[in-house]
Amino acid sequence: MTTVTAAPAHHDSGTFRAALPHIAPFLGILVLAVILPFVSNDYWVLIGTRAAIYWVLVSGLNLVVGFAGHLAIGYVALLTLGAYTTSVLVAGNVMPPVPVFAALPIAGAVGAVFGVIVGLPALRLRTFYFAMSTLGFATIVTQIALAWQSVTGGGIGIVGPEFPAPFNTAWGFYFLCICFGVVTTWMSANIARSRFGRALIAVRDAEVAAEATGISKPKMLIAIFLFAGALAAIAGGLFATLQTYITPDAFTFDLSVLFFIAILIGGRGSILGPMLGTIILTILPEIAAPLAAWSTFLYAVLLLLIVLVMPGGIAALLDFRNRRPLASNRAIVPRPAALADIVRKRTGGSHLKLRGIALSFGNVRAIDGLDLDVAPGEIHGLIGPNGSGKTTTLNVISGYYAAEAGSMTLGDDALPPGEPTLRAHRGIARTFQTPRVIGEASVLQNVMIGGSIEGRASFVESMLALPRNAWDERMLAAKARALLGVVGLESLAEVRTDRLQHSELRFIEIARALMLDPDFLLLDEPAAGLSNDEIERLAVLIKAICARGTGVLLVEHHADLIFDICHQVTVLNLGRTLAAGTPAEIRVHKEVVSAYLGG
Ligand code: ADP
Ligand code: MG
Repeated sequence: MTTVTAAPAHHDSGTFRAALPHIAPFLGILVLAVILPFVSNDYWVLIGTRAAIYWVLVSGLNLVVGFAGHLAIGYVALLTLGAYTTSVLVAGNVMPPVPVFAALPIAGAVGAVFGVIVGLPALRLRTFYFAMSTLGFATIVTQIALAWQSVTGGGIGIVGPEFPAPFNTAWGFYFLCICFGVVTTWMSANIARSRFGRALIAVRDAEVAAEATGISKPKMLIAIFLFAGALAAIAGGLFATLQTYITPDAFTFDLSVLFFIAILIGGRGSILGPMLGTIILTILPEIAAPLAAWSTFLYAVLLLLIVLVMPGGIAALLDFRNRRPLASNRAIVPRPAALADIVRKRTGGSHLKLRGIALSFGNVRAIDGLDLDVAPGEIHGLIGPNGSGKTTTLNVISGYYAAEAGSMTLGDDALPPGEPTLRAHRGIARTFQTPRVIGEASVLQNVMIGGSIEGRASFVESMLALPRNAWDERMLAAKARALLGVVGLESLAEVRTDRLQHSELRFIEIARALMLDPDFLLLDEPAAGLSNDEIERLAVLIKAICARGTGVLLVEHHADLIFDICHQVTVLNLGRTLAAGTPAEIRVHKEVVSAYLGG
């Protein structure tokens, strides 16, 4: 491979300076937290402790709710589970007493397992059902705590674990909880900034595109359910100590609502926002003591206000960078020559072959016995009127639909029907007729998502910011920046993607697909919505991609573009091949001319 894949030299001071604006607010909050006990009284230390414990839970839950977009509203259940597990282990009700610092990790492990069990419905069902399953679990845990008297003390409750000195004072315990909060913030931020964090948002906002880049939703979700469950249970252990004595009614549904709303008012995909949200919601009932009884009502009003006034939450409010206006007369000027530095040159290689592919939707025969050959280093045009089955053909190749008949091969190997996430591993990348990007992420992040499967660090390595994760990030960022240069969008790298024009999204999708360094690139109407100048530049770009040895399957309506750059053309009509051949042959094909070219 080439220069870009070798991660560029690491400048410690430079990276630190770049990261400082992101870290500064957290350092500010930490400084405030450290001086709090010195400038206030034990009452505020107690509230600070509570906020820190809640944040330990919320920092994990934030990845589930704010990043992955799953409505986990019953997370108090995992807090309860952790509180009882820790208390019971330390009290020695079922086995010899365990020291509290050993009981906490055990509770974390139990929480991780149950985090996944509660999360399982989210792998198949969306939002609503998952919300119900977390709620149901909350009820079950409380009922078990009530019924299992010999272990949990039933309605009478159980003593919370006590920490050894120096953590057995109000101050000592406060600083311990702050330490836990710092560590969980660091870990969740590491995940959020890694390819795993980007993959979570990708699955949330552009699931189909995420699959096409090889991101496996179940694997991602299981990893964060483990993480969030463990943190929630550890928070439970700390919570039990704070309460000194726990009964099932210490774990109210209000608490669950607090965790959830803290994330919503904080803003999706942010860590600082939900942290501020947690602090605000913990303090709010205290400074407005008469309102404490109304806290649920208060939360509901707050939530409504947020939804109406600032849907992006605190995070959007603090996002000053994306308020700067963008130049309105910006032009996309690709530099295809730069591709040579990024995409490896292939010679030879295998063909992508479709034979007798057929697929119906109800009575509609979308594809009816289609044969297609895409050769490496060639551009194959696929044209035909609307509804003739072009997009469906791409969807069959990229595994979203399983063909009812026919075969698909890549070289000597069959391409299994279905399994869209495996296509990226087989070197097949694509774009979409309607661009599928993550509006809330930056352009650079959107492109980096395309290279997710090239990362080498495991989830745990990323969580702990180990060297391989840093290497992945530098490699992916450098490659994405270089590809943004190739498609002519590098000046927009840091901009939120939902601020861009439609034509720019098409080029972002191409850059994202190129992150895979694909053997085959499937383009679904890339010229739709582009100006004539842009179409010309797109043509040059596609030719440059194919000159590196990539096979391109180009679905297009613009006949000029097709006849200009394609080596082979297949014309579809009602799911059948009307004609196939070189552009010169197609241009004079009688049926094509009368049925499609209209002349
Ligand atoms: P094209 O991309 O050539 O415009 P499509 O491949 O999108 O056409 O569609 C081919 C036919 O299949 C159309 O009649 C369309 O309505 C139908 N079709 C495509 N996708 C679906 C689907 N998911 N469910 C039902 N019908 C579909
Ligand atoms: Mg289409």
